[in-house]
Amino acid sequence: MDDLPVRVLLVAEDEADYCLIQQWLSQIGRNYYLEQVTTVDSALESIAGQQHHVYLIDCDLSQPDRLELLRESVLNGYAAPVVLLVDSHQAAEIADGYAHFTDYLIKDEINPSLLERMIHCAMQQYQLRNDLRRATQEKRQLTRALEMLRKNEERYALVIQGSDDGIWDWNLQTQEIYFSPRWKSLLGYEETELTNHSDSWFDCIHPEERDRVKQEISAHLAGTSPRFVSVHRLRHRNGTYSWVFSRGIAVRDVTGEAVRFVGSLTDITPWKQTPGCRIAGITHDRLTGLPNRDWFTSRLHQAAALSRQDPAQGFAVLFVDLDRFKTINDSLGHWLGDRLLMEIAQRMLTCLRPCDTIARLGGDEFVILLEEVKTQEDVICVTQRIQQELSTPFHIEGHEVFVSASIGIVLSNTHYAHPEDLLRYADVAMGQAKKSQCHGGYEVFQQGVHADGVTQLQLKTDLRHAIDRQELQLHYQPIICLRTRRLIGFEALVRWQHPRYGLIAPGVFVPLAEETGLIDALGQWVLREACRQMRQWQLTIPQGPSLTINVNLSGKQFTPYLTQQIHQILKDTHLEARYLKLELTESILMSNADSAVATLRQLKQLGVQLAIDDFGTGYSSLSYLHRFPIDTLKIDRSFIHRVDVDGEQLAIVRTIMTLAWNLGMDVVAEGVETSKQLAQLRSLQCEYGQGFLFSKPVDPDSVLSLITTPVDDWQPRSLMF
Ligand code: C2E
Ligand code: MG
Ligand code: MG
Repeated sequence: MDDLPVRVLLVAEDEADYCLIQQWLSQIGRNYYLEQVTTVDSALESIAGQQHHVYLIDCDLSQPDRLELLRESVLNGYAAPVVLLVDSHQAAEIADGYAHFTDYLIKDEINPSLLERMIHCAMQQYQLRNDLRRATQEKRQLTRALEMLRKNEERYALVIQGSDDGIWDWNLQTQEIYFSPRWKSLLGYEETELTNHSDSWFDCIHPEERDRVKQEISAHLAGTSPRFVSVHRLRHRNGTYSWVFSRGIAVRDVTGEAVRFVGSLTDITPWKQTPGCRIAGITHDRLTGLPNRDWFTSRLHQAAALSRQDPAQGFAVLFVDLDRFKTINDSLGHWLGDRLLMEIAQRMLTCLRPCDTIARLGGDEFVILLEEVKTQEDVICVTQRIQQELSTPFHIEGHEVFVSASIGIVLSNTHYAHPEDLLRYADVAMGQAKKSQCHGGYEVFQQGVHADGVTQLQLKTDLRHAIDRQELQLHYQPIICLRTRRLIGFEALVRWQHPRYGLIAPGVFVPLAEETGLIDALGQWVLREACRQMRQWQLTIPQGPSLTINVNLSGKQFTPYLTQQIHQILKDTHLEARYLKLELTESILMSNADSAVATLRQLKQLGVQLAIDDFGTGYSSLSYLHRFPIDTLKIDRSFIHRVDVDGEQLAIVRTIMTLAWNLGMDVVAEGVETSKQLAQLRSLQCEYGQGFLFSKPVDPDSVLSLITTPVDDWQPRSLMF
């Protein structure tokens, strides 16, 4: 750097300052190149483009808010060596509030040598900070990678331990193969016996089946079959042959070439010896080639065992039943009906990942085990994909056949005594889906509601009258500015005061309303009531703070009529559009990104604000995010929950915040429960928060006192800032 000119940017309004500093720099004798801009905006551009080595910024600038912006961007990643030029009376304030700038110089005290030292120090400090930042980032990435590796290894070890199967792991580049102790013991060998070469396996395969197995493996490695599945005989050490069921999957490099091949082996000799049992029929459905119920159940047991050891290992069971299949089968004839089932099986397979299992139970019933699932939304997404895939007509021997399927879903966090219960629950939910939604619907099993189908049906019937009977209520949860400690608005949350069951949470009845088509009326009621209420508070406390009211929207409300409906509601309730903020989930936006953009633009034109709710739990495509005119990201409480104990979560929250800021959105942390979480969020400069720490959702009568009391005086005060 010594030979290159040091590029210095002076941000000052007065040209005389430029002349003076230029003169000093030339006295120093070193190779400096000084440029001047007069606004902070131009400085920001230069900082973002890293065009200068050092920035000298005159604090006399009559743009304090822009200076604040500069401070934020320096904080948010564009770390740059910034030296503030201040008057002596500003020094204390600057030292306090702007410590993250590299340094400051008191104007009256500047002289050429001080200036030189300061520029030199600023550059060095900047370099150091950058090195430190890079080292920290690398360390964080390394820690994360190690942690993932550890988890994977643990999971792998658990699978191996928990399974009665033999495991093999084949390095296709060296031809070395690892056989688990169980693999060896199935064939009568000790752990130390058998060489680690793939030939050890092939030598054991029955000569009549060796070529076939090799072909099956080659087909999978070449990418023509989604997984390797094979039933064949292996020679036991004592010379007899055991029937085994072997399956595996290739691990591929970026070019798609298989580099590793991992799988497992089940001894099925006892089943083979069952009179009348045919080998393929033992584990697989002969018509579709999919696993059968026994095989599925054993996978379900494994998934349940894993999930018990580590509840983060979520899974889901889908029960798929074709609608009107009997009619189709009768009209096509059984032979074509079978062909149709085979094609349906193939189409469903294309919607699944390698870790998922699909089985045919018989007739037109299929079950699917989705492993490694995180949220209900993920599962619903797969369900909808399957339904969509099946909705394209099938062409069977000149017949065009339309098919739809009803799907029942059960998630692993449901309470169950035996894994088989989950199959039954999924079946119950499927039955409900058939009843309540004609064809092609899905239903998620909910304990208490579904376990008793009668109750559920009753709830749906009651819901139809809930609005007329004025059983719905809104509760309001405050949203706080963490910096100013002021209330900035409320989120309206709907509740149902059921005459028999008491207060029912929206998580139970909003999905019922969506299924029964009542969501439109319910959503309209919520919007109207929330707007009316906010307007009333404005009139009651005209000198009160300017507050927004957040209203949640269901995906089903997101129709082309939405803007018109909201326009009418705002007109009727005399609420200005800018006080209303609509909360949408990522899945609403992503399910139809193009039409969503159009609707969101209309809503923005109307003047309402938009927020993405539960951010981080859905399927946001980050490349889409900038296309949506969103004002606010609400970070889901699952991230906030562990922000005080889990460095990784903290890093995620920080990244989401940076992303939001770069996209010009503000951020609300949801579910803030502890003062430690709050402290972390404040250290990240998170601007807004919502959660039980400040207040639970309250009934409308309690809202006025919240509006008129300073946030610091709310109960429990000691937990607060
Ligand atoms: P949401 O929009 O993310 O609302 C926040 C939920 O988190 C509320 O649950 C609230 O009580 C809860 N919560 C807030 N702070 C904390 C905290 O610190 N800790 C914990 N553990 N929870 C906290 P609620 O009222 O049961 O609502 C659940 C969901 O139901 C809402 O999630 C929203 O998606 C939906 N919902 C609520 N009202 C409506 C509505 O009017 N229409 C629609 N379509 N959905 C609604
Ligand atoms: Mg919400
Ligand atoms: Mg939320």
